Amino acid sequence: MSSITVPPPKCLQKTFVAPRRHMFGPGPSNVPPRILAAGAEPIIGHMHPEMLEIMSDIKSGIQYAFQTQNNMTIAVSGTGHTAMECAIFNAVEPGEGVLTAVNGIWGERAAEMAERIGTWLLWDTFHMAPCSLFLTRALWVALAKHKPVLFFLTHGESSTGVVHPLDGIGDICHKHNCLFLVDCVASMGGAPLHMDKQGIDILYSGSQKVLNAPPGTAPISFSERACQKVFNRKTKPVSFFLDMTWLANYWGCDGKPARIYHHTAPVSAFYSLRESLAILAEQGLENSWQRHKEVAEYFHEGLENMGLKLFVKDKNARLPTVTTIVAPPGYDWKEITSYIMKNHNLEISGGLGPSVGQVLRVGLMGGNSSKASVDMVLEALRDALRYCHKSKV
Ligand code: PMP
Repeated sequence: MSSITVPPPKCLQKTFVAPRRHMFGPGPSNVPPRILAAGAEPIIGHMHPEMLEIMSDIKSGIQYAFQTQNNMTIAVSGTGHTAMECAIFNAVEPGEGVLTAVNGIWGERAAEMAERIGTWLLWDTFHMAPCSLFLTRALWVALAKHKPVLFFLTHGESSTGVVHPLDGIGDICHKHNCLFLVDCVASMGGAPLHMDKQGIDILYSGSQKVLNAPPGTAPISFSERACQKVFNRKTKPVSFFLDMTWLANYWGCDGKPARIYHHTAPVSAFYSLRESLAILAEQGLENSWQRHKEVAEYFHEGLENMGLKLFVKDKNARLPTVTTIVAPPGYDWKEITSYIMKNHNLEISGGLGPSVGQVLRVGLMGGNSSKASVDMVLEALRDALRYCHKSKV
């Protein structure tokens, strides 16, 4: 008599083959064969010398992508949210203030994370209309009034399609004894960004956008100023998994000769991340920024020629990686995205957070940032508008 009361599931007897899709939503993007192949290499131990060398390569690749000399530069095992929590949980102690610029969903999320560890919740004081850029004067006033220890800003707001200028903000934060934390999950590699020159203290990103690696690893870097705060805390960070004291040792950033086991790193994901950073380095960061800009402009022109409207009116504030299109009036946006998925095997998405129901979002990132992809999206949209319109008449 078998002791098994739950039988083996029938569904697992079927072979799984992932559908082939054009991943033109706000992420994840398509992973090119070279990066997929790197991820399929045999597993080695997470503490083997070859693995530590791969991690060192990843660190160099992130330093290049972020344009930073920061020694405290690693990839967190987890998605963009994990890096966001890593930044906030390590830099802030309960009772300290965090100021969050809310120009879309990511500022809201950062505020929620800060709230969960018992910091003051200041984001309402800096709430902006979805497409607006804040004025540095307003930031100056907010910092002087609230004296936060951390100011959060999203560089590429993927929910609204806005790229926020960063020049000068770090200086203002530092004059107020405040660290400058920036989210570049949706912008890194696709829009100019200079961590050191722009005085950014903590910067994080994700693997699944411009880098075209599978989701699940997240680059993050801490400036010397940030390290002073992070490594001189009175209390331990709330998360053991994200404690930078441990992670700094695992990544060989703390100067100690021995590395101590902290967690089993996602070995295959690190292989893929390394390969994606190698591709970015081969292509050149400036070339990548330029290509994303040119392809985005070509796309925007094509959309306007079709009679569609861009959600972000100010051309300079348009994020080159994720375009937000005003949801065409009279159409159901869900019908459009479903039609395109079904008939063109192509993902585009609706809005997120404050832009839900208002926009369609198209992400053209890394290898997907090409005029051929734009032509494909424009054709799919043209077809959907014809068909979806007809279906309503
Ligand atoms: N920040 C931004 C700007 C993003 O676009 C995303 C992902 N859409 C995230 C953070 C969160 O990343 P993840 O989904 O990998 O946790």
